[in-house]
Parts: sequence; C-alpha cells; structure tokens
Amino acid sequence: MERIYLDYGATSPMRSEAIEAMIPFLKSEFGNSGSIHDLGQRANDAIQMARSQIMHALGAETPREIVFTSSGTEANNLAILGFARKHRQKGTHIITTQIEHPSILEACHFLEKEGFTVTYLPVDSTGMVTVQEVQNALTDQTILVSIMAANNEVGTIQPISEIGKVLKNHQAYFHTDAIQFFGKIPVCVKELGVDLLSIGSHKIYGPKGVGALYIRKGVRIEPLLHGGGQERAIRPSTLNTPAIVSFGVAAQLVAEEVKEEAKRLTKLREYTWYRIRQEIGDVELNGHPTNRLPNNLNLSFQRVEGQAILLELNREQIYVSSGSACSAGKHRASHVLQAMGKREEIAYQSVRITLGKETDQTQIDRFIDVLKQALHYLRMLI
Ligand SMILES: *Cc1c(COP(=O)(O)O)cnc(C)c1O
Repeated sequence: MERIYLDYGATSPMRSEAIEAMIPFLKSEFGNSGSIHDLGQRANDAIQMARSQIMHALGAETPREIVFTSSGTEANNLAILGFARKHRQKGTHIITTQIEHPSILEACHFLEKEGFTVTYLPVDSTGMVTVQEVQNALTDQTILVSIMAANNEVGTIQPISEIGKVLKNHQAYFHTDAIQFFGKIPVCVKELGVDLLSIGSHKIYGPKGVGALYIRKGVRIEPLLHGGGQERAIRPSTLNTPAIVSFGVAAQLVAEEVKEEAKRLTKLREYTWYRIRQEIGDVELNGHPTNRLPNNLNLSFQRVEGQAILLELNREQIYVSSGSACSAGKHRASHVLQAMGKREEIAYQSVRITLGKETDQTQIDRFIDVLKQALHYLRMLI
C-alpha cells in the first residue's frame, strides 16, 4: 500500500537537493564558521552563500538583512519580543490578529505581562482581516503590527501589501509570519511593505530546526539570547552549518518553482474539492474560497468529527490533519475556526488537507476513494 502524505502544512519531506547539500557539512566540512582557519572559513562561505540565496528568494536588499534562527517559532519570537523590547520608549501598543500561530500569540501574551497592550484583531467568516480594521486600531502608542501572510490552518491569505501601504504613514513597524506563505506564493519584501518577515525551512522541503528572520536594513532588534557575536549579536550561538546550507538550497529552488507549482497545486486542489463536493457532499469549505494557499483545503464534514476521519484515513496510510488538537488528552477546537465565527461543531468536524510536491492526481484519486468509504462508514454509525 502506497503512503499518501497530505499534511504538507505540518511539515514537508526534504527534497534530495537539500539533503545532498548538507552532507559535506555533516562529514568533512565540520568547521565552526567563526574559526579563522580554512575549515572554519569554508563553513562561513557556505553560510554566506545560503544567506544570499535566501535574500534573493525574499527579494531583500542585502544578505545582512537575513538572520538565521533555530526555527520559525524562534524567528517569530525574535521579531515580536526583540522588536517590542527595543522600541518600548516609543510606545507600548502592538496589533496582531486572533488567528496567528501560537508562536506569535503566546509571545504577545508574554509581552502583556511586561506591560504592553495588544490588540487581537478579529477576522471575518473567511478568515480575512480588513485594512480598515488595522487602520482603526492604530494609536500613537502602536509600535508594531504583526499579521500572518497566510494562515496555516485554513490557508486564507491576508492583504499584506495593502496593510503595508497604510503603515508607511505611521510610526508602527510591520512584521509578517510568512512561514506557511513562503514557497506557495512568490514573496518580495519590498512589495509586501514589511520590515520583518519570518520563514522556516521544514515547510519548504528543507531540514527541521532552522528558520530565518528578515530584518530590513536599519531596523533594530533586541536579542533574545546573549552570547558570542554571531549573526551580528542578534542571534548568538555557533551556526548550524549543515541545516543552514540545506535551507539555502531549498529556499532558492522553491522560489524558482513557486509560480508553476502554485498553478499545478491550485488545479489539483480544485479537482479534489470538486470531487469531494460532488461525490461525498454535506461538506463545507473553511477559509476563503479563492484567496487561499494553492495547496490548502480545510473541510468540515457534517455529522462526523475530523479526528475520526483522520484515524480512518490513517489506517490506509493516508495522512491529513484535523482542526482540533488533542493535547494532554484534552480535545480543543481550533482558535482559528472559532475566530472565524464557526460553530464549535464545525470546528470539531474540520479536516485539513495540504498538498505538496509529491502529490499527484493518482494519489488524490485513491485518497477520495478511501475518504468516500470512511465517510460512508462513519455517517452510518450515527
Ligand atoms: C509551522 C509554522 C510556524 C512554526 O514554525 P516552526 O519552524 O515549526 O517552529 C509558525 N507559523 C506558521 C504560520 C507555521 O505554519
């Protein structure tokens, strides 16, 4: 039985070019990039190469604008905590949304304990924030606005460049969590009008445990870690050369392929959604109908829990995600679907299907066959 992976929103397999790129740095090229000798300098050169690849992939101006971190989560924390702490004399108000990833929401909650005020903007039923709402929330105390480029659960894409334009006329700086967005939609930091942008490697066919924060030239950040002078002391510690080199390759390739792949995945997603609607029915699409990530389908099947569907598919080695997280035995409905005003029932019914590089129509056809059987069975039980 062939394994069918439809959970690219959670993580992606590494592409072979990214695996190959890291091998020398796991074997003979093990030097510390801070060392003066040749072995160290070769590691340093490879890291600078990766920095340039990421700079180009994001449309940044200089490689110095890219700071490597240990994850997307760390890039988000560095942006939120690092920026707020550095600029607190200019104001103590931050604007974000109710549907951010926990690495933004929890960092913001933490800042509230440090005396900051945070506005968590609502979203409409498709998961969109409006530019007007951002504008209305701005005060002379606002120093930072952080709005995700695309939501990881429902795939809705936010009007980032429009918000960027509004913020040009305000002292507030602009951060976006582009961890789910990058590699699915072309990114250009200038066009988006952002000062800070987070990306992660393991969502774009690179290794886990590495991410990066774009920090526009001249924007100042307080480090979270204190140590040596690596990454211009913004993010000290010996750099993870193999992971960074591999991330650079993955970022370059995903940026080269993004336009074609977006077209292919949109087609495949529409085919999937059409067949599910026609052949299974009693199903609702969560998120924006068109303004969404090309690879994302978030569906609520009436009368059936998402987790039950996930487990039925799992028996057939088909891997998807459900809209409710079961952590420490507690069943919790997604904060994203709740913010979109979905009934709790809909939130528990949701299943996230995320396509990627290896997904093709043959896989989708088998997925739909199994899904049909699973729903037939699960709906018969009630
Ligand atoms: C995956 C993800 C993160 C966290 O990134 P890690 O590298 O797993 O820490 C943050 N935000 C979004 C939108 C994500 O999809």
